[in-house]
Amino acid sequence: TTFAEMNLNPLLLRALEEAGYTTPTPIQTKAIPTVLSGRDVLGIAQTGTGKTAAFALPILHRLAETPGRPPKGGCRVLVLSPTRELASQIADSFKTYGKHMGFSVATIFGGVGHAPQQRALARGVDVVVATPGRLLDHMNSRAARLDHTQILVLDEADQMLDRGFLPAIRQVVRAVPAERTTLFFSATMPPDIAKLAADMLREPVRIEV
Ligand code: AMP
Repeated sequence: TTFAEMNLNPLLLRALEEAGYTTPTPIQTKAIPTVLSGRDVLGIAQTGTGKTAAFALPILHRLAETPGRPPKGGCRVLVLSPTRELASQIADSFKTYGKHMGFSVATIFGGVGHAPQQRALARGVDVVVATPGRLLDHMNSRAARLDHTQILVLDEADQMLDRGFLPAIRQVVRAVPAERTTLFFSATMPPDIAKLAADMLREPVRIEV
């Protein structure tokens, strides 16, 4: 399969060509059509497999298919990540693949000032990539609301639990509408991760690479 055969938005295909991507990786071949179909995903994959594009590409495609402004104080897509480094990388991937589409992308993480993040949220953001702790701070201060979030992604869920983010994740999930798409990625699937996934996902397609 090629990216073009997956019927991805031509603006995405152009960005992929410019990035020098010719062939989808195995997780991309499996995940992209699944996410385009609207199904939830339980992905068991390590970093380096092309997992970021496996969710970012179909998400950007779906954002373009469902026009609408991002909600003030909130976002259309929320990606949770264990570290600021990974959050920055994920946001850069959304910007690279979406460079011809004009969507807004913001990162939310600790260790930096609150004000710029509050200003970005106030305008409304298409894609927010956040670490759970700082996102929760913004929810508690009413700077962030998640009641218009359409797609929720957990990346490296096992790493987030190792960092003690389970209570924050549960609070975030409660604030996102039940009617949503959820994409859940983890390198490992011990019982506590499997339980969280089962609580969050609706009839997911399991993808293992
Ligand atoms: P990830 O597993 O998402 O961290 O991606 C690992 C690396 O592979 C990143 O540097 C991507 O830019 C690159 N990459 C992802 N998908 C492809 C692809 N289909 N073709 C070439 N490079 C890719």
